[in-house]
Amino acid sequence: MSKSVIIIGCGIAGPVLAMLLKHKGFEPHIFERLPEIQVAGISLGVSPQTLKVLNILGLAEKLIALGESLDHFRTYSQLRGEQLGTSDIPARVRDWLGWPMLMIARVRYCQFLYDSAKERGISITFSRNLVGVKQEGERVRAIFEDGSEAEGDLLVGCDGLHSAVRNALFGKDEIKYSRLAQIGGISITPEILKSPVHMAHQYLGDGVHFVATPIGHEQMAWVATFPEPNEAREDWKRISIENAKELLDGLPVANWDNGPKDVLAHATFVTKYGLYERPICPSWHKGRIVLLGDAAHPTSPFLGQGGNQAMEDCYHFVRLLCKAAPFTDESLESAFKEYENIRIPIVTKSVARAKVEGQKRVLSGKEACLQRDEIMLKGNGMDPQRVQWQNDLIQGPFMGESEI
Ligand SMILES: Cc1cc2nc3c(=O)[nH]c(=O)nc-3n(C[C@H](O)[C@H](O)[C@H](O)COP(=O)(O)OP(=O)(O)OC[C@H]3O[C@@H](n4cnc5c(N)ncnc54)[C@H](O)[C@@H]3O)c2cc1C
Repeated sequence: MSKSVIIIGCGIAGPVLAMLLKHKGFEPHIFERLPEIQVAGISLGVSPQTLKVLNILGLAEKLIALGESLDHFRTYSQLRGEQLGTSDIPARVRDWLGWPMLMIARVRYCQFLYDSAKERGISITFSRNLVGVKQEGERVRAIFEDGSEAEGDLLVGCDGLHSAVRNALFGKDEIKYSRLAQIGGISITPEILKSPVHMAHQYLGDGVHFVATPIGHEQMAWVATFPEPNEAREDWKRISIENAKELLDGLPVANWDNGPKDVLAHATFVTKYGLYERPICPSWHKGRIVLLGDAAHPTSPFLGQGGNQAMEDCYHFVRLLCKAAPFTDESLESAFKEYENIRIPIVTKSVARAKVEGQKRVLSGKEACLQRDEIMLKGNGMDPQRVQWQNDLIQGPFMGESEI
């Protein structure tokens, strides 16, 4: 008899985990709090790890066709009033690892994963807000706010930063506002940033950072990062252009006329959100209930690794689960321990590096900023440390053949 796996959350990790499990003969069921796929968020960077995992399912090339594979990254210094360089590192990553650095609108990505899971016959139930879990012998039970329940052999929490599964297993710990906020959106690509090559543009200022990246279909996703002492909400809600004028005019980059000003003028929607920190969960399982993705290891977005690290979790979780058959308490315990042993050291690096990268983006004081820009100039517009960190992270979760 196939094993049933309850998955909580239909964001990025949930549908991919479900498809990998189904591929290996499990019976996954996804339960999502919201009434439908949420139209929220801006864009995600998809690095080779994700494409390797999606390739197991025959989905990598399809996803690539929906986004924009980057070739170049150009950096400008506002203080120096000049370009610091154009790097071809994204193109070199593709040559090196065989997969591109892809940028895609988050909504498009979520919809693609949802549609792909549905096509594979995976059951997805919306409007089920998990409020509790129970383990009885070899069975687990999910308890939802509306009083309904679901029963299975295993349960995986893919329910993001505020994970209710994590709270139910280990108690509610503090989710702290980082005092950094972002305003971002999607724009029609302005003339000034149109390029025959697939190029991202970043702008370094004093206490502010701006990046605009093509995401396909003559569109760019853009984000400004800045310190914001007053707590900003983390709801990723869209603000219509009519209501965003004040917000955009107040941005320190609003008058930068080498790109940002035009990007803002062509925005189709805007969103403002605070960035929050929750420690990496010290343990990712209890009995037959396991955490995966942001539920276990939320991160700030500055290395673009949140979704990609979640894909590595999916790969190792399914690989180790298959090796644990026939399931006993002992074989599952040892598989989930190994899952943690492999993943925790890697996400610990990823989360810590993203935090350092975030601090660099809002560096303030003329001298410190000019020093940073000097380093970037020598790196042809790229920070050599960031390149090294990124290259280290994007090689996972396997080299050569998949073991799934
Ligand atoms: C609305 C939204 C927009 C985002 N936009 C961006 C962005 O533009 N750029 C960026 O870098 N990162 C963004 N992120 C974060 C990024 O998606 C994650 O870091 C990363 O993809 C990890 O994926 P995940 O599946 O672990 O978590 P998530 O993608 O956060 O998915 C978690 C899912 O679980 C659901 N859920 C939560 N609680 C419950 C519950 N109690 N019961 C049932 N379901 C539940 C949520 O509704 C969500 O669908 C966004 C996250 C969200 C939730």
